Amino acid sequence: MKTKPRIRKCSLCHTYTMALEHHNTQTSIAHPPIFKPNDRLSEYRVIVLHGNDNKEKERD
Ligand SMILES: [Zn+2]
Repeated sequence: MKTKPRIRKCSLCHTYTMALEHHNTQTSIAHPPIFKPNDRLSEYRVIVLHGNDNKEKERD
């Protein structure tokens, strides 16, 4: 099992680093996760609702 290095960023000098602290300030993760399970579910729900909407239009 490999452990991927997390690139972090100092909010003071905007320097990318792997250290947890820089300039005595806690660094933040440079690449936050984009995908969230909840977001994907809500997106799927929108598609379902949109599909139902199209069906009703076809009936008309
Ligand atoms: Zn810094």
